[in-house]
Amino acid sequence: MKFKSLGISLMLFLITGCSFPVEKEKDSENRPTSLFNFVVIFADDLGYGDLGVYGHPTIRTPHLDQMAQEGQKWTQFYVGASVCTPSRAALLTGRLAVRSGMTSKKNRVLFPDSHHGLPQTEITLAEQLKAAGYVSGIIGKWHLGHKKEYLPTQHGFDSYFGIPYSNDMDNVSSLAQQDYSSFWTSEARKKTESFNVPLMRNEKIIERPTDQFHLTQRYTEEALSFIEKNKNQPFFLYLAHSMPHVPLFASESFEGKSKRGIYGDVVEELDHSVGQILNSLKDQGLEKNTIVVFTSDNGPWLVMNTEGGSAGLLRSGKGSTWEGGMREPTLFWSPGNITPGVVSELGTTMDLFTTFSALANVPLPKDRILDGVDLSPVLFHKEESPRKTVFYYRGDELYALRLGDFKAHFKTQDPYSNFYQTHRPPLLFNLNVDPSEQFDVANEYPEVLKAILEVRQEHGKNMVKGPDQLQKRG
Ligand code: MG
Repeated sequence: MKFKSLGISLMLFLITGCSFPVEKEKDSENRPTSLFNFVVIFADDLGYGDLGVYGHPTIRTPHLDQMAQEGQKWTQFYVGASVCTPSRAALLTGRLAVRSGMTSKKNRVLFPDSHHGLPQTEITLAEQLKAAGYVSGIIGKWHLGHKKEYLPTQHGFDSYFGIPYSNDMDNVSSLAQQDYSSFWTSEARKKTESFNVPLMRNEKIIERPTDQFHLTQRYTEEALSFIEKNKNQPFFLYLAHSMPHVPLFASESFEGKSKRGIYGDVVEELDHSVGQILNSLKDQGLEKNTIVVFTSDNGPWLVMNTEGGSAGLLRSGKGSTWEGGMREPTLFWSPGNITPGVVSELGTTMDLFTTFSALANVPLPKDRILDGVDLSPVLFHKEESPRKTVFYYRGDELYALRLGDFKAHFKTQDPYSNFYQTHRPPLLFNLNVDPSEQFDVANEYPEVLKAILEVRQEHGKNMVKGPDQLQKRG
């Protein structure tokens, strides 16, 4: 094949007098000359402290630990929101969800009786990469609208296999109708039939209720066949696992095997899944031009007690704008391309849209505000991140803002109650020194607070909120 193309190039050179292209595997920036494939593995409600490589003492994650060893382990990587729907909207559009209307004062996520979803006016990463000839597939949880006009196949994905919203929705247990909180300590929660969640292929329901015991396994099989099928063209695979979101289900090989109970079983099965995917990429020689990212949509669901995860040393969890809600364990992997090591620079899931667009040579849309930056300098050269800020929204309201090492909280609220506090002056934490947000230093750093307030003001000037897509139900 090489001889053939060299022969054609030589012939072209003789005919046209042009210098023929030299076949090479890397460009001057040491990147593959062919387009990268992108695989985003998105766990659901996995906490910052739940992987071996992030310090969990009993959950075994050898494949993710190895992925971290071969790639980059980020210690300050964030999502766009602390709950499912807006976090996923932010990842796929490269924009804070408040801009697309995928946030609401009333409902924090979409439900099976919600009317709307991600608007057609948004450009998803799948649509963006189409311009460069990518094939895109989503396997797993969508949660950006279950009605036909909002499904993944209407948003640039060529194929879809998964559940349209969270695995605890469509709860049909009679106990849940009477007393939701006691349902979660009952035996009924362990039955997959308690949740009448549909499993879909493209736009059709193929199973209901979904067999949740084998969901991780089936997602993995689908992912392996997607990679095999599309290995000869650039692809984007978005593998959005349904777990470890409660209810927790693991297959026979994992159930009862971990020291951390069912939560550990589920995470260990996810780890096994990651191992299968990375091995498959290696076996097919795709690892050199594929970037795999592993992260989670939001922090651990702490109110679920031992069935929820752990944010490690970070404060609070899912639903909160404290660090535990929005800082996620995040790994980037592409052997020979991504400079291995631990990265404490700032990054967010919204940066994937910008970074992947740059790597695929697709210009960014100019008719809208994007919230991402290109992380290539960090990934390929371990240089400084262009990102200096993180905006922490709850619903459509900005609760906190990070600028460099410091984070100011304007308002704080319990993850799942209406109790909130407004802070004047804001609370201020140095996250490099105090990642657990314990020691308010607002009095010591008035100039930092002033700078953060200026960034907030500037941000507010350009904020146009999209019409609320989450409000209408029933
Ligand atoms: Mg979630």
